[in-house]
Amino acid sequence: MDRTGCAVVGGGPAGMVLGLLLARAGIPVTVLEKHADFLRDFRGDTVHASTLTLLDELGLADAFATLPARFIDRATVDLDAGSATFELSHLPGAHQHIALVPQWDFLEMLATEAQREPSFTLLRNAEVTGLLTERGRVTGVRYRDRTNPHEEHELAAKLTVACDGRGSTVREAAGLRPRSFGVPMDVYWFRLPRREDDPIGVVGRFSTGHVAVMLDRRDYWQCAYLIRKGSDARMRAAGIQTLRDEFAGLVPWTADRLDAIAGWDEVKLLDVRLDRLRRWYADGLLLVGDAAHAMSPVGGVGINLAVADAVAAARLLAGPLRARQEVTRAELRRVQARRWWPTALIQGGQRLAHRFVLGRTLAEKPSDRPTPAAKLPLPVRLLRRVPALQAIPGYLVAIGPLPEHAPSWARR
Ligand SMILES: Cc1cc2nc3c(=O)[nH]c(=O)nc-3n(C[C@H](O)[C@H](O)[C@H](O)COP(=O)(O)OP(=O)(O)OC[C@H]3O[C@@H](n4cnc5c(N)ncnc54)[C@H](O)[C@@H]3O)c2cc1C
Repeated sequence: MDRTGCAVVGGGPAGMVLGLLLARAGIPVTVLEKHADFLRDFRGDTVHASTLTLLDELGLADAFATLPARFIDRATVDLDAGSATFELSHLPGAHQHIALVPQWDFLEMLATEAQREPSFTLLRNAEVTGLLTERGRVTGVRYRDRTNPHEEHELAAKLTVACDGRGSTVREAAGLRPRSFGVPMDVYWFRLPRREDDPIGVVGRFSTGHVAVMLDRRDYWQCAYLIRKGSDARMRAAGIQTLRDEFAGLVPWTADRLDAIAGWDEVKLLDVRLDRLRRWYADGLLLVGDAAHAMSPVGGVGINLAVADAVAAARLLAGPLRARQEVTRAELRRVQARRWWPTALIQGGQRLAHRFVLGRTLAEKPSDRPTPAAKLPLPVRLLRRVPALQAIPGYLVAIGPLPEHAPSWARR
């Protein structure tokens, strides 16, 4: 049986950052990623100021600069009654912006960098199917090579870390069940062509019964169209033209290109979830990122939170992994103790946004508002009246409550 110091399941943002950092600590680390590449459209695109600072600390600023990124220093939300802009120019530190970068490029960059470290291994096409256990302790993983699915492999590890996202196989195998919070929406995810004179960056649009967010991917828009949870079947029955018409009504300047959505095959339904594990660890096992706490797309903070979990885990566990044969439960608990409250705080904000903004907007019918949106919501009016307050949502989204910094041994 093969053996490693740390088996990291999943090569998303959490898994790749954890793999890179542990490898820089000289710890044998194997990342198992079930796909052959990172090229998947459903991944979010935002790399926030806190993660950009981390990349600087890791000496990856130059590598990041080669990626096709768009930098945004403000986000504008258009409501029927007017618009609200959130400025990032007040952020402390070197980055007063958020980068929009295709996540597959970002992950590929982290993989290239990690592969420079002799103790790092990335197994692609390696789908973890179960856990190895000994007297109740997780001692590694069982996986199959998707290019040869009939063969099962085993990898023994001092520590296994689940970074396999919100549908975590490892979490299921460990018998851990997250507490789930209600979510009012699902998301249709599709592309539209982008023209030279279109707006730049992130476009958010709210109107009676409808919400859309569009991410500028340079030559096309990645569009998120929010629908009420469970309304997919009704939408599909109504036909693709209904979706085009609704979107054109919401974002009229896209009307000239909505034929690009030729059919439902081009529209992906993303099931939005918000949940959190009570306990993020077991003997020999830690769970971080979406595997421990699935994030809503609100604020686009999931990637940065997953990265922050990974940095905290690497900093707290590199010493024990280097020094001993086992990592204790108390050491794993320290990772959860550090990352639980920023996660709970952000999820609390997302739940408020679901309940008081998105849920209500999606539930509205045109007849509910005879004079559409005569008034902007109170928080938005406050932000417009006192511009200094705009720094608060900007800070919470772009930096977050507990940004994690690279340990000295990982800096280059
Ligand atoms: C519609 C939508 C839009 C979003 N947009 C944004 C955004 O713009 N910005 C943002 O910050 N966040 C966004 N999020 C949230 C964000 O995508 C997640 O919070 C973030 O990706 C979590 O990172 P992770 O590394 O924990 O897990 P993931 O990114 O889910 O990565 C998990 C990895 O594990 C692999 N894997 C899964 N199972 C196995 C297995 N059995 N064996 C081996 N490998 C496995 C997967 O292939 C994947 O590569 C969005 C979420 C949704 C639902």
